[in-house]
Amino acid sequence: MIYLDNAATTKPLPSAVDAAVNAMTEEHFGNPSSLHKLGLTASQTVSVARKTIASALGCTAEEIFFTSGATEADNTAVFGAAMSVGKRKKRIVTTSVEHPAVAEPCRQLSQRGFEVVNVSPRDGAFQVEDIVAAVNEDTCLVSCMLVNNEVGAVLPVAEAFLKIKRMYPDTLTHCDAVQAFMKLPVLSKKLNADMISLSGHKVHAPKGIGALYIKKGVHIPSLMFGGGQERGFRSGTESVPLMAAFGAAVSELSENMDKRYVHVKALSDLLKDRVNAAEGLVYNSPENGSPYVNSIAAEGLRSEVLLHFLEQQGIYVSSGSACSKGKKSSIPAQFGAPERLTDFTLRISFSSDNTEADIDELMRALKEAQHTLLKVK
Ligand code: PLP
Repeated sequence: MIYLDNAATTKPLPSAVDAAVNAMTEEHFGNPSSLHKLGLTASQTVSVARKTIASALGCTAEEIFFTSGATEADNTAVFGAAMSVGKRKKRIVTTSVEHPAVAEPCRQLSQRGFEVVNVSPRDGAFQVEDIVAAVNEDTCLVSCMLVNNEVGAVLPVAEAFLKIKRMYPDTLTHCDAVQAFMKLPVLSKKLNADMISLSGHKVHAPKGIGALYIKKGVHIPSLMFGGGQERGFRSGTESVPLMAAFGAAVSELSENMDKRYVHVKALSDLLKDRVNAAEGLVYNSPENGSPYVNSIAAEGLRSEVLLHFLEQQGIYVSSGSACSKGKKSSIPAQFGAPERLTDFTLRISFSSDNTEADIDELMRALKEAQHTLLKVK
């Protein structure tokens, strides 16, 4: 199997699986709220995981709130901002390339009286001035992703948020950093974000766990009431196994982020060169993007047909964003990919487990697809 769909999900690391299993067995399966020894052990496991994630993000453990994933983190950030600062300020500024986990809550709020402004890239790239110019005194939230999940473009979040916070200190800033975390440096202080969303399964932990960073001093109302877990912010018995696994994966990845980046950058450069040198193939991702996410197109070969052809050869890729489930995406074109290639786009997303041999195999299979499906010699 050649797995090139790491932006959709990643394979859990053995250390993450072990941590999850450990938290479900022997004397480690307790409820962190229990007052006896088993509860204390479980509570310590959660605390270690929280500290690990906080340390990777450069914040304090108290600023990390576990969620069921980035969708919940994004929804909590957007609705939370609307319920706090949004009581007085009714404008939300976001981008036209956000994941649905941000775009949909914003759309919901637009139906509830909020004015939602979607800033788009200009000539294929986001301009700091455009994001800043969209914000005014009436803005409760600016939500801007760091790395786009379809093409890997890196958005100028830190610069935009710095200017926005200087001009409008009350406006909340939120960054969906799902495709950047543990791949590029993501530090809460440098990002100038009040809130940051993270997802476990994009960083080799299991699905169903994520986190929302909320800067100390920023008050976001709780959306979940009950037993008062997560310091009252998100009630519900903690998923200790998933939290432990998230912490273990982040701990392991923290050790060699630079090395992994160099390896994946070399793979991305190789893919770009090989694709651009091949007849009928186009490399779509913008310059200076995250090497982990690459968008390519094969002229005349519809994404889904090609995806299944590759699948038969044991190569797994995506036709764009996994979450768009076959819906046509405007995002590659917004970042400058030719419109005529929209139907022919594939996303090749790497992890550090991928090798040059995987690219050789992909290129061979793409050539075979052209030969078989297009009858190209
Ligand atoms: N944000 C981005 C940029 C994503 O790529 C994804 C997943 O594809 C999400 C949010 C949703 O994350 P989760 O699957 O953890 O809910």
